[in-house]
Amino acid sequence: MSKDNLIIFGPVPSRRLGQSLGINNIPPKICTYSCVYCQLGRTLHMQVERQAFYKPEEILRAIEKKVKDAKDKEERIDYLTFVPDGEPTLDINLGKEIELLKPLGIKIAVISNASLMWQKDVRDDLFGADWVSLKIDAVSEDIWRRVNRPHKSLQLDKIFQGILEFSDAFNGKIATETMLIQDINDNTQDIEKIANFIAGLRDAKGYISIPTRPPAGKWVKPANEHTINKAYQLFKEKSVITEYLIGYEGNAFAFTGNIEEDLLSITSVHPMREEAVSEFLKKAKANWVLIEKLINGDKLVEVKYKDKKFYIRKLYTVDS
Ligand code: SF4
Repeated sequence: MSKDNLIIFGPVPSRRLGQSLGINNIPPKICTYSCVYCQLGRTLHMQVERQAFYKPEEILRAIEKKVKDAKDKEERIDYLTFVPDGEPTLDINLGKEIELLKPLGIKIAVISNASLMWQKDVRDDLFGADWVSLKIDAVSEDIWRRVNRPHKSLQLDKIFQGILEFSDAFNGKIATETMLIQDINDNTQDIEKIANFIAGLRDAKGYISIPTRPPAGKWVKPANEHTINKAYQLFKEKSVITEYLIGYEGNAFAFTGNIEEDLLSITSVHPMREEAVSEFLKKAKANWVLIEKLINGDKLVEVKYKDKKFYIRKLYTVDS
């Protein structure tokens, strides 16, 4: 594989970012965390010191070429996304790379685990992006250590302080990502604390996810539908705009006219209340037989929260 193809991949469809050209600005797999659910396996090299990995001009040149190729093929690119096999902010040239890419006129996204947000230079680098995703799996120190297995020098309170400072001053969009793992970070109290923290960020959108590919820890189990729904409701109670990221490319806003597909698409992004399902069926001139069929066919699950019924797309299970 050529070096360009190691650094750049796509464009690939992303539910959050449209057509995204991925930038792998960190060699595999250098990270500040070694999350139990990491689909890249155990972290080969843990570090917190930022360093140079590739020359920024090299990244620019590779992207310019890809953008030109995409244009020639009439392929759209909505975002240039830093989403490496490791933590993108470990790259000391991240800010410079963002500045070099800006003249291309394509929005820039960074998907970070947020662990270095306590450093001013990292926050300054990210100010240049249009969209930043920050990982928030736990707000309790012990759970954070169990789920993210951070580098020993990291301190959670400093990270949160950095995230708050960033959110106050950032002009772009912030997304948070919370991966829920059964029996580790999926109890009500902890989810409530996470929701409270996200509610304090300016205009942040909260994404709730589960591992959908084999994780680093073979014993890791994704949270179930009941918990995913509970988390959604708890986030909503704190007025956090929330969506699922559970491995389906569902898009609640793109209706195909196929009622079954549309219903599964919506319920992969957020749960639907019983009344909303009734309304949906009425509009489509269908009835509850369809819902029973989807439940019996293991595609839809009925869950309860505070005595109300909700419907959510059946989640993938990860083989252990
Ligand atoms: S932060 Fe991302 S890359 Fe690093 S260990 Fe966690 S899931 Fe893997």
